[in-house]
Amino acid sequence: MTHSPLRDTLERWASGTRIAPLPEREGIAPPAISFEFFPPKTPTLETQLWACIERLGTLRPSFVSVTYGAGGSTQERTHATVLRIIRETSLTPAAHLTCVGATRGAVDDVAQRYWEAGVKHIVALRGDPPGGEACTPYPGGYAFAADLVAGLRRVADFEITVAAYPETHPQAASPEADLDNLKRKLDAGATRAISQVFFDNGTYLRFLDRALAAGIKAPIVPGIMPVTNFAQAAKFCAACGTSVPKWMASLFEGLDDDVETRRMVAAATASEQVRTLQANGIDEFHFYTLNRPDLVYAIARILGVKPQAA
Ligand code: FAD
Repeated sequence: MTHSPLRDTLERWASGTRIAPLPEREGIAPPAISFEFFPPKTPTLETQLWACIERLGTLRPSFVSVTYGAGGSTQERTHATVLRIIRETSLTPAAHLTCVGATRGAVDDVAQRYWEAGVKHIVALRGDPPGGEACTPYPGGYAFAADLVAGLRRVADFEITVAAYPETHPQAASPEADLDNLKRKLDAGATRAISQVFFDNGTYLRFLDRALAAGIKAPIVPGIMPVTNFAQAAKFCAACGTSVPKWMASLFEGLDDDVETRRMVAAATASEQVRTLQANGIDEFHFYTLNRPDLVYAIARILGVKPQAA
């Protein structure tokens, strides 16, 4: 007998088995959300970023973070963007700060400047050397993110967020060693982790279970990246150790020149991902916006988040 989904469904109903309901909407509070931006390189990209901040800002995120280029390469641009957010919006910025390739003194100075400018939240990372070189501790520098977190605590009373890896960081000795590292970062003074991008919810939810079993109680917020440009995302994921499911490659197959359909597939895929997480009790989401607002705005709306007056 050939497989027929319709017959399977009818048989399930006939035998009294309910079809699994869609995640509930009634009674579920809208989640807390946050957005990540990158500092723009050109005036055109700057205009694009500010249009993005303006639109997503209406959703009243808990915070918005600004990345720091590999090896501190965007130090001034990150600083300028974060300061402009403070000056011109009512949003709470979080500045990403990496320690690779810099002395402790230099990193502490950047942190001190942020504190004095009113930036109280740092996303503390080791970072990666530019050009994909091997990462070796810089003489007189913080070797790992856990050391940076401890250093930041000495500079000022920052709120500190760190990175977590549901699929294990590519350079970790083992998944257990990587989880121990996450615990060290939180024990050193971080209060939240944001996950590396992932597409398989099961991997993330199992990671939460392992973290809980390891005594980690701080929130590990899922990092969500809606994908419209599949080829670009697959390249990025290969570099950071995120696996791309076969079903996802198949959804985007043949759509390279069909931007509209890609956008619809992207919206449906990301909505399904976040709604399933929401149904599993996740009530905080961090969006990698790539400085593009529309898709993220729609997905936040689907999660129940609505614009509010500033
Ligand atoms: P760490 O936590 O220090 O870990 C790095 C590796 O070292 C891991 O494999 C860990 O298991 C291992 N390790 C840690 N301590 C030890 C030890 N004592 N002995 C041996 N091994 C150890 N990069 C940027 O350049 N700019 C950004 O703005 C940026 N933002 C990011 C935001 C998020 C949410 C995420 C998930 C990543 C971000 N990254 C950014 C990428 C990040 O810098 C890289 O993933 C980097 O390779 C690791 O940074 P980390 O803070 O996780 O490092």
